Amino acid sequence: MQSTVKEIIRQFREELSPIYNVHEAFQFVWLIFDHLHGWTKTDLLLRDDTKLTDSDQLFVENALERLKNHEPVQYILGETEFFGLPFEVNPSVLVPRPETEELVEWILESVKSDKPLRILDIGTGSGCIAVSLARHLPGAIVTAWDVSSEALKVAEFNARNNEAVVSFVQKDVLTTTPEEMEGYDIIVSNPPYVREQEMELMKENVLNHEPHLALFVKDHDPLLFYRHITRLAAVSLSADGLLFFEINRDMGRETVELLSENGFREPELRKDLSGNFRMLKALGPA
Ligand code: GLN
Repeated sequence: MQSTVKEIIRQFREELSPIYNVHEAFQFVWLIFDHLHGWTKTDLLLRDDTKLTDSDQLFVENALERLKNHEPVQYILGETEFFGLPFEVNPSVLVPRPETEELVEWILESVKSDKPLRILDIGTGSGCIAVSLARHLPGAIVTAWDVSSEALKVAEFNARNNEAVVSFVQKDVLTTTPEEMEGYDIIVSNPPYVREQEMELMKENVLNHEPHLALFVKDHDPLLFYRHITRLAAVSLSADGLLFFEINRDMGRETVELLSENGFREPELRKDLSGNFRMLKALGPA
């Protein structure tokens, strides 16, 4: 039996009420109709008497079941938006977060010179940082690493789909030595930073569906990735090169110390829109 759009909105509100509020439920219905037909939110409200076609009905019912299972809507639709660009996502990459858009914004705002910049993104995942920078910094030479070949497939698709030129390399930062490094003007990374002790605070949509490889670090060594990246960046950043990190909001002080110990200058923490110290910028060693 086919429902009207109005009935679907009601059904989503009711059946998702144990885990999502009414605004979230409406947002899901809208994202689905945007995905299927390019509808705006206004379209959804103006056309709420429309009856669904058979194939839409099937799609919507399947999506509802998956949402009830806490699956992120971005995986269900296979796509999301980051910095105004479309990105394909699947469970081998994290769903790009708004905080990471703020990091990209900070990088763009920090770049003053017109010279073509050499940029490295470590742990690129969906490629959201690398692709956005390549699109917004004409002439930039962007390289992006990830340890996961599945993630790199997604990132490569996203670069092609957004007509961004990025060189992707399968590389494990934990086993890369300073001798292997080329020179860069900007190094950026959003590495795994959630401590295992923080697992119990996490929502099921993240914990049960997103790649743990991209999220978690051991409690006893929360800065593992930051240490390795800092060591590599110290030998490869140009004279006035910049290092940017997304960080665990509780590890700001420790990460600043790590950078200072390694000769990085003027470390600066920045809060995200939720008010958490979520990013760090520093000038490379003199
Ligand atoms: N901000 C992400 C989260 O809270 C974690 C991202 C990361 O570990 N790099 O789920």
